[in-house]
Amino acid sequence: MAIEYLCKVCRGHLNVKNSIILAASKVSNRTQRGLILLNPELGNYSTTTHPSFKIEEGEEYIYTCPICSSQLNSAKYPHLVRILMIDENKKEHNIYFSGIAGEKCTFKMRGNKVEEKKGPDIKIYGKYFEVPEEDRKYL
Ligand SMILES: [Zn+2]
Repeated sequence: MAIEYLCKVCRGHLNVKNSIILAASKVSNRTQRGLILLNPELGNYSTTTHPSFKIEEGEEYIYTCPICSSQLNSAKYPHLVRILMIDENKKEHNIYFSGIAGEKCTFKMRGNKVEEKKGPDIKIYGKYFEVPEEDRKYL
């Protein structure tokens, strides 16, 4: 079974053919919006958009599900976006990536445990998922 990506709200399938399809709009100018195709390979940050919708580095984007229009930006972790991944073994994971264009970081989580992290910018958000040393003994 292939890896599937789902909307965290409606659980609709976001991956079609070789892309994850989301709708995006620029926070500082919501009229700049369109569809964005993401690479489903974790750590691959290539994106595709229509030429009329250019993603600007350093700008933050609101990502929404193209099926139910729910916002996918995380309320818990500012500047990160969350979608669901179902792996080959049908296990469910949370995938977080940056809503700020140009930032390369991906966190794959199961429960509150980071299973995988990718990208040179993970240090920006690492603090979200770190367990303080003094709390580790309680885990
Ligand atoms: Zn949805």
